[in-house]
This record gives sequence, C-alpha cells and structure tokens, in this order.
Amino acid sequence: MEDSRPQQRIFIGLLLFTLLILSGVVVLLWVVPYIGLSRISPLAPIILAVCLGILLFLVLLGVALLVLTIILGRDLFLSHNLRGLVVQVLFPFMVLVGKVVGISKRRVQQSFIAVNNQLVVSNCHRRIKPERILLLLPHCIQDFDCDVKITGNIKNCRKCGRCEIKDLLELADAYGVQIAVATGGTLARRIIVQNRPEAIVAVACELDLTTGIQDAYPLPVIGILNERPNGPCINTRVDIGRVREALLYFLENENPTPSGSGNPDSCRDEGPASG
Ligand code: SF4
Repeated sequence: MEDSRPQQRIFIGLLLFTLLILSGVVVLLWVVPYIGLSRISPLAPIILAVCLGILLFLVLLGVALLVLTIILGRDLFLSHNLRGLVVQVLFPFMVLVGKVVGISKRRVQQSFIAVNNQLVVSNCHRRIKPERILLLLPHCIQDFDCDVKITGNIKNCRKCGRCEIKDLLELADAYGVQIAVATGGTLARRIIVQNRPEAIVAVACELDLTTGIQDAYPLPVIGILNERPNGPCINTRVDIGRVREALLYFLENENPTPSGSGNPDSCRDEGPASG
C-alpha cells in the first residue's frame, strides 16, 4: 500500500492531544467536587479518585493499543474493537481537536482513512471469495461527456478507454469481483444492501469515503482517494495499481495470525451491513 505514515502521524498526534485534554478534564472532575465530597465522608474523594483513575487507565490502555496497532500494522489484542472505536467514537473528536489546533477537516479525514485502512489490514486474516468483494466507484470517474448510463449497470460501458471505467471493469472481470458505481451515499448504501459483500474497496473523495466507512461499519472497507486533476466531481481519476493492491489484499490475504491473537473470521467483522 502507499505510504500513509504522514496521515497516520496526524491521527496519532490528534489522539494524544485529545488524551491530554481528557486527562485535564478527569483531574478537574476530581478536584472540583473534592471539597464538597470530603464533607460527606473523608473516603468519598478517595473513592472518586479510584473510579476516575480506573477510567483514565482504561482510556490510556485503549489509546496505547491503538497507537501500537497503527505503528506495527499487526493484529494486537482487541484491534478489531479498536477499529470500531476509531470509526464510531474517535473520528468526530478528531475533527473537533483538529479545528482547535488548526488542522483542516480534509487532512483529518485523510488521516482517518489511512488509519482505517491500516486497521482493516491489521484485522483481516482470511481470504474472501471474489464474488463477495465489492469494488465501489464514484460516478465522477466516468468521462463527463460520455452518454452511456453506467449507474444502474456499469457493464453498459463500451470500454472506449476515454476514462478509467474501462480499466476498472477489466480489473474487476480479471479477479471476478463485483463492481458498481454510486452517485452518492444513498445509492452506495443500497448497492451494499443488494450485493451483501463481505469486504469493500471504495474509491471516492475524503467526505464520501469517511461517511461511507462509518456507514458500512462493521464491514471492512479499504478506502482509496480519487485524484482530481480537473477539480472536484468531474473527470476524476484513481491509481489503478492501488485498487489492484487493495483487491489482492482481500483476495490473497496471507498475513500470518500472530500466535494467540486474531480471529479467523475477523475480516468479516460481524457480517455485512444490513441497513
Ligand atoms: S470507458 Fe468510454 S464508454 Fe466507458 S464510461 Fe468511460 S467514456 Fe464511457
């Protein structure tokens, strides 16, 4: 896969900054009611301190595991659950913290996609049948002047070669994976429900990929950012080599499961999204 370490570093930096803020909040939560609690019972502040200490320790442990999984790129203890934590809980915080420290939403989204990909790769330990893999593309990859309707059925493409739909179709045919084009999140969700894939390789812009990864969770999604040489949403492109690499990852995954960890079914997480 492409070197995504710079994006991962942004995510880790934001995560550690969030941890610092959270630690401050926990200390405040203990200090502020300290005086009132000691009037109720001299033990009350100690009990509160122990509870907050346990909470902070668990958060620290989770963050340490997450950072190690990202850095090592290997399945560590509970790394499957860590992806859920990143996708469902941490990302909105990262956007807020990014705003505070002056990192644009777009860069935070890129870091989220890079970290998600890393965690999917770390989690996944079994091969998936080609027909259960979905290659999901944005409509803007199609040549703007092409009059063929490919959203309902991408196989309508005449493979004239004016845009990369031809190459992507040939790639999907070569590996036997499903392929579809979506014009937006609603159609993408419908395609996922209809095709019931076990894994998705999605090409899109930052916004669509981040919302798509969140919507599709717990399905494993490898997100690939499109290239926009003509500006957003028109005649966009994608690195075909990166798409092939992501497909091969799901098809041929032979990552050894570290002894004593990992779940042979972890690629599927908890099964296809049904909503
Ligand atoms: S390859 Fe040609 S026919 Fe197919 S979508 Fe692109 S421009 Fe249209």
